[in-house]
Amino acid sequence: MNKVILKKGKEKSVMQKHPWIFSGAIAHAEVPDGQLACVCASDGTVLAWGYYNSRCDIAVRILSFEDVKPDTDLIEKRIAQAIAARHAAGISQITNAYRIVHSEGDLLPGLIVDWYHGHCVMQIMTLGMEQLKDTIAQILVDLLKPESIYERSDHQGRKLEGLQPVNNQVYKITPELIKINENGMQFLVDVKHGQKTGFYCDQRDNRYMVRKIAKGMEVLNLFSYSGGFSVAALIGGAKSAVSVDSSQDALDVALKNCQLNEVNSLHSIVKANVFDYVNESTISQNFVICDPPALAKNKSGVKNALRGYKDLNLKILQKIPHNSLLLTCSCSRFIDIKLFQQVVFSAALDAERDVTIIGKYSQPADHPVSIYCPETEYLKAILLCVK
Ligand code: SAH
Repeated sequence: MNKVILKKGKEKSVMQKHPWIFSGAIAHAEVPDGQLACVCASDGTVLAWGYYNSRCDIAVRILSFEDVKPDTDLIEKRIAQAIAARHAAGISQITNAYRIVHSEGDLLPGLIVDWYHGHCVMQIMTLGMEQLKDTIAQILVDLLKPESIYERSDHQGRKLEGLQPVNNQVYKITPELIKINENGMQFLVDVKHGQKTGFYCDQRDNRYMVRKIAKGMEVLNLFSYSGGFSVAALIGGAKSAVSVDSSQDALDVALKNCQLNEVNSLHSIVKANVFDYVNESTISQNFVICDPPALAKNKSGVKNALRGYKDLNLKILQKIPHNSLLLTCSCSRFIDIKLFQQVVFSAALDAERDVTIIGKYSQPADHPVSIYCPETEYLKAILLCVK
């Protein structure tokens, strides 16, 4: 039987149901990469089951804390539970685009499944989950009866797992652009070529919040992607919105999204590196939204990332007009809200501005946080009032 034996005294995190076992905690592993193994304490007691990859820092990702080998039924049960949780949270009543499986947040580490108006997009991030790919696709067909399934497994982290990028049609045919409806707003989603799985569902509640407070404001949407925050602000009555992004493809979709929602006359785009843009341009808008990609991709990148967040927020706070709002975000899972707020504090101090926090937000219910794995709470958004 495949076995991973922990070093003495390294059982605590497994006993506390954390789904990751770091390589440093392992005394001995008799298991080929990608395969399921039972995780045992140094005295041989079975603690959990998970899949193993000797190449990774996180050498085991746990699927079950019971002494039963996980099988197809368990995976199906987990996916069914994840679907039921979305319905219970009422998500399908406000949008037809949402996350159905959120990796560790749904006890399915390494797997993401997003739902875009009848079409599924799956993303496999680990070698262990890769072995279950066909099983998962079949379960999705059985449980959701989707119109199509597309695989967008081109996440950078796959390299560390020893996996090639995959961008592939899995089941039937996915259209080039899918039109979704989120809180009455329409967005086009490019599942095949867009970023991640095509759309940032995780900012849904924050877009809605922006829509509610944007009336009469002039909005600068930094790192706009397909213009989600711009559309939300304009639908909410903003006077104007400028979307800034380095990707022309993203900006092209932003233009289409503004047309679709009939707010295009108030919207414009700027193709730029935001780090240069905030250095070189004046900021005349009184509502700035800053939603950069994860600047820390791993633990060792945290120090540089903190510098990046600080510079960005400092520049904005130096330039933003008096009596403005700034919604500043971070989606780096290695930087928690406390650390992110410290960075913003230090930027406010250096900018010599009078800044108050008027709201703090995180991710919506379709991106559940495992109480045992705080790293699953990755999205932080702080709404600041700058006097
Ligand atoms: N706020 C968006 C999601 C932003 S994702 C939404 O709600 O949909 C981050 C975006 O930053 C991506 O569109 C990416 O193209 C862009 N980006 C990454 N690095 C950038 C840079 N240095 N300058 C400008 N845009 C950048």
